[in-house]
Amino acid sequence: MDDFQMRIYGHAWAQDLLRRAIHNKATRHAYLFAGPEHIGKTTLARAFAQALTCERPEDEAGLGACGRCRSCRLAAEGVHPDHRFFAPSGKQLLIDQIREVVREAALSPVESRYKVFIITEFERANVNAANALLKTLEEPSATTRIILISHQSSGLLDTIISRCQLLRLRPLPESEVVRALQERSDLAEMEARRLARLSNGRIGRAFALAQDPESQQSYDQRIQEMQALLGYSPAQRIAYAQTLERNKQLETILQEWLIWWRDVLMIQNRGQRLIINQDRLDELTELADAIPTCQIRRFLDAIMTTARYLCKNVNRQLAMEALLLKAPKRG
Ligand SMILES: [Zn+2]
Repeated sequence: MDDFQMRIYGHAWAQDLLRRAIHNKATRHAYLFAGPEHIGKTTLARAFAQALTCERPEDEAGLGACGRCRSCRLAAEGVHPDHRFFAPSGKQLLIDQIREVVREAALSPVESRYKVFIITEFERANVNAANALLKTLEEPSATTRIILISHQSSGLLDTIISRCQLLRLRPLPESEVVRALQERSDLAEMEARRLARLSNGRIGRAFALAQDPESQQSYDQRIQEMQALLGYSPAQRIAYAQTLERNKQLETILQEWLIWWRDVLMIQNRGQRLIINQDRLDELTELADAIPTCQIRRFLDAIMTTARYLCKNVNRQLAMEALLLKAPKRG
C-alpha cells in the first residue's frame, strides 16, 4: 500500500534530479521552480516536501517518498507540521509574510529532518519582501528547505535566483496530458484529446476542465457564439469584442478557436482522422465548404498573434476588435 504517495505527472527530469539529490543527501537549501501556470509546479513542490520528510524513503519511482509512513500521510493530507505554505495575500506577497518565513526558518523542525517552506507566486513579492528573504537564503539553517514557486523567472531579483537551484519547468507534452486524464477520469479518448489540446500542456487546467460539469455546456455555447460571429456586421463584431475582452476565460476561448479552425482546415485537407472535435463533424464540414482556406489561415494567424499580445499587457479591447474584424465572413 502506498496510498499517500503523491502522484506527479510529467517533469521526469526534474523528478530524477530531486530524487537523486535526496538519495545522495545532497539537496540544496533553496529551490526555485519556475514555469507557466497550471503545469504542476506546486504539486511537484509538495511531493518534494513529502519525500524530504519521509521516515522511510525508498529510491524508487516518483521522488522516493514511501507513501506509507505517518509523515507521508500528513504530507498528502496537507497537514504536516513541518510543511509550511505561503501564498500572496491579495495581489502581493507581503513583507510580513516573508518575515514569518524568516522567523520560522530559524526554528528546528517539529518532528521531521527538515522544515520545508513552499512559497507560491513568488513573482508577486515586492523588492522589500524579496530582500527580506535574502539572508535566510544565504545562511539557511541546516534543517530548512525553501521552495520558491514562480510563473516566471525573468522578473525576479538576480540575488534571489543566484541563491536557489533553478528548475525551469515546461508544459507537458499533449500525449502525457491525455494519459493523465484517462488515468484520473473516465473520459473517452476523443474528449481527453480535446481537453489536453485545449489546456496546452497545462495539466492542472486539463484536470479542472475534466472535473467541471459545466465545462462542456459552456464550450458548446462559446462555439455557437463564435459561429454566430461569422454573420455579424463590423459594428456587431466590435460590440462582441467588448464582451469578450471582459471574459476571464479569454485565453481559453482563443485556444478553443484555434483548435476549431484547425479542425476546419483538416477537413479541407482531408485529414479527418486528426480532428479534435469529432462529435461536431457536421458543423465543421459545413464551414469547410463555406469558407475559403485563405480566410481560415489568416484568422488562425490572427488568433495566435492576439494570444501572444494578450500575454503582454496590450490594450485587450483593441486587440480583440482587430481580431474579430479578421474573422471569416459568412453571408
Ligand atoms: Zn514516507
